[in-house]
Amino acid sequence: MPARRVYMDYAATTPMDRRVWESMAPFATETFGNPSSLHQFGRDARLALDQARGKVARLIGCPDDEVVFTSGGTESDNLAIRGVALARRETHPHIITSAIEHHAVLEPCHFLEKQGFKVTILPVDGYGLVDPQDVADALLPETALVSVMMANNEIGTIQPIREIAAIAKEKDVLVHTDAVQACGVVSIDVQDLGVDLLSISGHKLYGPKGVGALYVRKGTPLVAQNLGGDQERKKRGGTENVPGAIGLGTACEIALDALDEHPANLEKLRDSLIAEVLDRISDTKLNGHPNHRLPGNASFTFAGADNQSLLINLDLAGIAASNGSACASGSPQPSHVLPAIGRTVEETRNALRLSLGKENTEDDVEYVIEHLCRAVEKIRGAEKKITDLEMLGGEA
Ligand code: PLP
Repeated sequence: MPARRVYMDYAATTPMDRRVWESMAPFATETFGNPSSLHQFGRDARLALDQARGKVARLIGCPDDEVVFTSGGTESDNLAIRGVALARRETHPHIITSAIEHHAVLEPCHFLEKQGFKVTILPVDGYGLVDPQDVADALLPETALVSVMMANNEIGTIQPIREIAAIAKEKDVLVHTDAVQACGVVSIDVQDLGVDLLSISGHKLYGPKGVGALYVRKGTPLVAQNLGGDQERKKRGGTENVPGAIGLGTACEIALDALDEHPANLEKLRDSLIAEVLDRISDTKLNGHPNHRLPGNASFTFAGADNQSLLINLDLAGIAASNGSACASGSPQPSHVLPAIGRTVEETRNALRLSLGKENTEDDVEYVIEHLCRAVEKIRGAEKKITDLEMLGGEA
């Protein structure tokens, strides 16, 4: 058994805040009505659902009725991209996105491409930043939507969304941003950002899994993707996940209250983690932007130490980290983000993401640094032995 357990994979998922869980429970057992029912049971559930909607709205600075509850970040992204594309397909069959988007954005774009849409995938620089000028250059008279994520899940880079949105708005092009990783740790005001659609996921901000929201600015053309009932102002059919939505609302309320404090705490821990790792482990690169990055994200590439071996060694020490892509963990698919910022195949294989969260302490950071140093040294030593043996074999 390891001496302690340290979770540093908050970008993959976060534990539910106990207050979130407690707020949800009565809506599973007591206030269980269907919000579409007209009787008291239904009206009680409707009231709670709309209060939760208000809490989500307050976190991102929009009117309550511009929040659509969904089943999570993936559905929000799909609804935004496919919903707008289908609504504008006759006159505007063109979408712009970036090379480092989450698969929940890239896959709908690929799907639309197969349906005859033109999709422009913008490159990013070595830090993972989209150049707003590239957005300007890619805009066409038939562009329906620009979708660029607010913050990247693997390398943490935060995009200049306000600048990108301003450029798109000049040409009356709609803007979507996937704020799944940013929400709760970056202050968001959709009016100030100028976006028309914004995706949120519950389980990335200490809320429940399987619930999320899509901000849809009033007047945005959007075709529902879940067809059925008229729920969510006809934008998303299906009986609402009331306990989930209540949990998301509570999570947003807690995040808003802690916005002055929580990201600053994370940043302090992250900065000491990054500084120590770069100082103590030679031949290490930081992935992502040094300043424009999520407060809890630290992503590295260690020369000569593959991430599978690193993850096993860290896991044996009780440390949960990731090779990068939260949702693709466990899948053999290599990262598409690291090659996009110029990392080689080998560097991509040697990338490790540590993502910090609420429960992490300075002691956790110390513990992780110690074990990371040991793990990298051990793997590099083993690699060297193999190379030496191969060379000996070659001479024999
Ligand atoms: N977008 C980003 C940037 C993500 O990091 C994730 C999940 O990791 C998603 C979308 C998908 O969210 P969900 O797991 O709620 O479907």
